[in-house]
Amino acid sequence: MSAKSVSVLPSPKTSVVQQPNISIPPLVGAGLEELTAWVHDQGQPAYRGKQLYEWIYQKGVRSLSDISVFPKDWRKEVAEVPIGRSNIHYRSVAPDDTVKYLLQLADSQIIECVGIPTEKRLTVCVSTQVGCPMACDFCATGKGGYKRNLARYEIVDQVLTVQEDFQRRVSHVVFMGMGEPLLNTDNLIGAIKSLNQDVGIGQRNLTVSTVGIRDRIRQFAQHQLQVTLAVSLHAPNQALREQLIPNAHAYPIEDLLAECREYVKMTGRRVSFEYILLAGVNDLPEHALELARCLRGFQSHVNLIPYNPITEADYKRPNQNRIQAFVKVLKQQQIAVSVRYSRGLEADAACGQLRASK
Ligand code: SAH
Repeated sequence: MSAKSVSVLPSPKTSVVQQPNISIPPLVGAGLEELTAWVHDQGQPAYRGKQLYEWIYQKGVRSLSDISVFPKDWRKEVAEVPIGRSNIHYRSVAPDDTVKYLLQLADSQIIECVGIPTEKRLTVCVSTQVGCPMACDFCATGKGGYKRNLARYEIVDQVLTVQEDFQRRVSHVVFMGMGEPLLNTDNLIGAIKSLNQDVGIGQRNLTVSTVGIRDRIRQFAQHQLQVTLAVSLHAPNQALREQLIPNAHAYPIEDLLAECREYVKMTGRRVSFEYILLAGVNDLPEHALELARCLRGFQSHVNLIPYNPITEADYKRPNQNRIQAFVKVLKQQQIAVSVRYSRGLEADAACGQLRASK
């Protein structure tokens, strides 16, 4: 069933005037108001909107025909209206309990998302695109090419799917799966709002990670969200960054950092910088010193990500001594720093290992 073939809804039976068919995208990701308006257009009383809302977000219903509180006739009429839920195509559990999902979308495209449980949290790492056009040299997703943006419902669905599979509320979402979120800003913002208001996840528990697209960080700031912005810096100077990230040619590091400073000013929120550690490439003490210079006076935090191996690249992860030496230099320079040891490594579910295959 393709999304297109079912997006035209039957016109309401009860209306006297013949109304044109109403075309709406699948329902997941729509707020209470939107759903109430749609239900109303269908000639149903407004309270059915509230029911629909609860069944989508609390009960995780997958077909309108399963909503038992709806009148039978109407259920039949709207049975084909797409709710917008994907199917789990493949699921694998890593020894650390991280679960990697391959989800199949309505047009048969496959995306990845990851559920990362701890005692207190359930974090979902969501994709924002099918594939990724950024082609960073160390990332498996980029090696697989780019297909398309994900719609709002396809982003929110990933969280509902993990929630359903774990039978546990999702507490945190990181936009760090496949794709570059700021190339899909409208759907990203729509999904953030829905995850916050409809799924009930605090904005402060949402993190958007970007490689940095010119002007998009400023535009993102204008929405005055409370989410955390993480910027994939990965190198302390332009020459090295260009080697690793093709997009850096078009958007020099100085401009990116200037836009980040503006973001801090506009939102009052700090930026978190991600820095992948590649042995012998960007992990030397002098790189740490240069990085500290880049970030001086910045309200920021550095998240070091020791490289997770992928078959398409021959980088190496630095050893513990090298990692700790890098941390030490940053600390000496008064830079807040943490090391992210990615989970799910054994299931190919760690940062940079996401691709649309097992
Ligand atoms: N496009 C966004 C989100 C992508 S992934 C971005 O670039 O920020 C989230 C993080 O994983 C990014 O910082 C990305 O650079 C990093 N990453 C990619 N490949 C990796 C790998 N092989 N090992 C460790 N981290 C990786």
